[in-house]
Amino acid sequence: MHRPTINDPVQYLKGVGPRRAVQLRRAGIETVGDLLYYFPKRYEDRRTTIPFNRMAKGQTVWMQGRVLGGAVQRPRKGLSLTKLALESQGVVFHATWFNQPFVLQQLVPGTEVVVVGRCSRRFNSMEIAVSEWEIAGQGPVLSTGRIVPVYPLTEGLNQKAVRCLTHSVLHAHPDPEPEFLPDDIRSRYDLPELYTALWEIHYPSTPENAARARNRFVCEECLLFQLALAKRRIAGDDPKPFRHGPDGTGISALIDSLPFALTRSQRRVWTEISHDMQSPKPMRRLLQGDVGSGKTIIALLALVKATEAGLQGALMAPTEILAEQHYRQTAKMLTPLGLEVELLLGGQPPRERALALKNLRSGQSKLVVGTHALIQESVVFANLGLVVIDEQHRFGVKQRMLLQDKGLEVDSLVMTATPIPRTLALTLYGDLDVSTINELPPGRRPVNTHFVYPSRLPRVYEFVRREVTAGRQAYIICPLVEESEQLENEAAVNLYEELRTGPLQRLRLGLLHGRMPGDEKSRVISAFNRGELDVLVSTTVVEVGVDVPNATVMVVFDAERFGLAQLHQLRGRVGRGAAQSWCILVGQPKTDEARERIKTITSTTDGFKLAETDLRLRGPGEFLGTRQAGLPGFKVTDLVNDWKFVEDMRREAQILLAGDPDLSAPEYQPIAQKLEPLIRKLSL
Ligand code: ADP
Ligand code: MG
Repeated sequence: MHRPTINDPVQYLKGVGPRRAVQLRRAGIETVGDLLYYFPKRYEDRRTTIPFNRMAKGQTVWMQGRVLGGAVQRPRKGLSLTKLALESQGVVFHATWFNQPFVLQQLVPGTEVVVVGRCSRRFNSMEIAVSEWEIAGQGPVLSTGRIVPVYPLTEGLNQKAVRCLTHSVLHAHPDPEPEFLPDDIRSRYDLPELYTALWEIHYPSTPENAARARNRFVCEECLLFQLALAKRRIAGDDPKPFRHGPDGTGISALIDSLPFALTRSQRRVWTEISHDMQSPKPMRRLLQGDVGSGKTIIALLALVKATEAGLQGALMAPTEILAEQHYRQTAKMLTPLGLEVELLLGGQPPRERALALKNLRSGQSKLVVGTHALIQESVVFANLGLVVIDEQHRFGVKQRMLLQDKGLEVDSLVMTATPIPRTLALTLYGDLDVSTINELPPGRRPVNTHFVYPSRLPRVYEFVRREVTAGRQAYIICPLVEESEQLENEAAVNLYEELRTGPLQRLRLGLLHGRMPGDEKSRVISAFNRGELDVLVSTTVVEVGVDVPNATVMVVFDAERFGLAQLHQLRGRVGRGAAQSWCILVGQPKTDEARERIKTITSTTDGFKLAETDLRLRGPGEFLGTRQAGLPGFKVTDLVNDWKFVEDMRREAQILLAGDPDLSAPEYQPIAQKLEPLIRKLSL
């Protein structure tokens, strides 16, 4: 027989016609290699069946028997019942199929058939309602007598079809799929060799061997990912073409101009960052710190330090509102130091944009703040030395890599308030050093968080009025509309009108949503900032970063629909000054999960605890949000439960590359080849 190679399209396999090929493609299977890596989602242990006399009603059982005969009954229109009498070791039992009249022709008397299904007893006879069946004696029986794989299916595919394909391909031993995991790693972690592992993950001989096979593929994924990250890092590790001296007068002038003293944590992380910038290797650092811990000032210090070496710096934020706020703060604090700051946004007037681009290209402007408009190709720097990405979790891994690549040897600092459990951090940020601000500025009081049903809204509005009378400000976040941003904006407009003419009459209300023209948005947010508005009715556009310390009330409608991370971020908009702040969650949780989320957010303000609960409730894909989902290369690994392997493989990757940075030894050729497409995916 022709031995398939792993790059052969599945179409050329026996039993795969054009229709099946389309179905397989829908499941992401194009080549023989894809099929081999199409792993079962679970198994059913059907090694032994239960004897007739112990079968209980409702149990799933499996039997092999010889067909004695049968008939199709049609009890009513649209329903057919095929009932066959089968015999096994002198005992007669019945098997029934719903709406599959054709089986009668296939299973002529004398045929040996294996059936799987729920068992029921009628008088003295046993009946199986068939869910899976196959003819025995035509090849290996795949659905019983073993630990049976259960595959994820897409429309048109069934277990039988996928099992036949994986089994026949494994049986043909495709070529070439050489082992690429280094031997010493395999032996250290007791991992089966590739071909064995493929057999064992599809058709395990024992549950223990299935687990070992799975471990192998987890390690494989983790090792490849860490190697890819590390190799990218090495690629960007050429020494910087410029040198930084110790902190200069700009830094001390900025620190002196602050109305507060830096916290101990802030001073520590600044030392780490400053040290990184002074080193000849480009900085790759993640700055973690809970909402309100004061990361922005650290970013500004780094930007000033870049300018002290005569270099340019860029600060990127995920939303226009945040970018503008950073721009205003940066300009206010740095113009006195003689530094020009530019602003780059998506929907900017062309003239403004052209001027900003010109000033950056000529090097006349040292600093720029912007949204992802910064990664566009038209943005050219005279001598970029530092990029800072704020709220990095709102960007994808790829976007981070893109900005980093804008100048290869630039320093980069990424900041996030979403505390990420260690395993995930190692995966997402495996190539970054981490600094953590682990305290809030002094005098902050934890935000008081309460949950109320909508029937209590009159009391909530009364409370908002009282705070406003006391000179404070409030946010009111309108319901989340997942279907469309348009609808969400309309909801905000409606709520604004309702409040303005009803319960919050005579207060100064502002409205903010994503579709408002850019200058309108900035007008509203600066008015709120200056205290000219009492209440800001908004969509989630204010979720991250917005900093108005005088605001003390955050009201969130339909709170049960928000994720924990999002609620924590929204709550982080208040409690930024010394005054006591409140977060009022309005909603009607309907599921247990929603109730648990509300319970968690009202009982703790610890971002780390929240993140772990969130991860447990939603799993890593959801936790990371759509932007971070689809991490290339992870199919088997559970980033939460497989943390040990994630850590081990990160270490192994480092050891491997320390010994052979290019993986040029002949024994590393196979793994180096595996790596190439993954590195490409990470850079796209
Ligand atoms: P985040 O870490 O969420 O980005 P910000 O940088 O926006 O937090 O800081 C939150 C608020 O705390 C700002 O109003 C900022 O001016 C203030 N702040 C920062 N550092 C300190 C400090 N050491 N002492 C007092 N207030 C500070
Ligand atoms: Mg911030």
